[in-house]
Amino acid sequence: MPFASLGLLPELTRALADRNYTQPTPVQARVIPEILAGRDILAGSQTGTGKTAGFTLPLLQRLHAAQNPSRSPRAVVLVPTRELAAQVADSIKSYGKYLNLRTLTIFGGVSINPQIDALRRGADILVATPGRLLDHAGQGNVDLKQVQVLVLDEADRMLDMGFIADIRRVIKLLPSQRQNLLFSATYSDDIRRLAQGLLKQPVEIEV
Ligand code: AMP
Repeated sequence: MPFASLGLLPELTRALADRNYTQPTPVQARVIPEILAGRDILAGSQTGTGKTAGFTLPLLQRLHAAQNPSRSPRAVVLVPTRELAAQVADSIKSYGKYLNLRTLTIFGGVSINPQIDALRRGADILVATPGRLLDHAGQGNVDLKQVQVLVLDEADRMLDMGFIADIRRVIKLLPSQRQNLLFSATYSDDIRRLAQGLLKQPVEIEV
């Protein structure tokens, strides 16, 4: 089954062809049409399954289709570490190279000022660790009221690292009307509780 049959834009299938990706992985075949349709997702999937492209491709497509006069972020991808933030942002930039969307990484442990300058210039997608994103929001450096899609990537690792309170604080800053995508390699009671409060009639996917 080719990627185009999942309903992806030519700009995205071209970027996939550049990477010599011919077939979607099983998780991609399952999640891409559901995310394009605007559904919430609860996905149990390990790294190496292609989950990053699985949420990135339809996310790019949905943002491309919508207007953004404000340049405020319209999608937030929360990740546990700066390494994953960089990796996810690289994927977004690579798959989105034929689209005109701006992606910014926000993580702690580095100077905050360059991030403030970058936020001022505007971004469509923020890939962020929860604590530093909260710092920026608290300082008024970023307005999260235009966010239409929230992704929690490696949610189990974020909970293991003690980020649950920060995640909940970030969620409180977002509009209540939005799409939520939760990816986790494992399901603990904490993940289930988080998912229950966060997701609206999610499509559950196990790969
Ligand atoms: P992930 O699980 O998102 O970390 O992806 C695992 C690896 O598979 C990454 O190196 C991706 O670039 C690669 N990958 C993702 N989707 C595909 C695909 N459809 N065909 C071949 N490789 C892929």
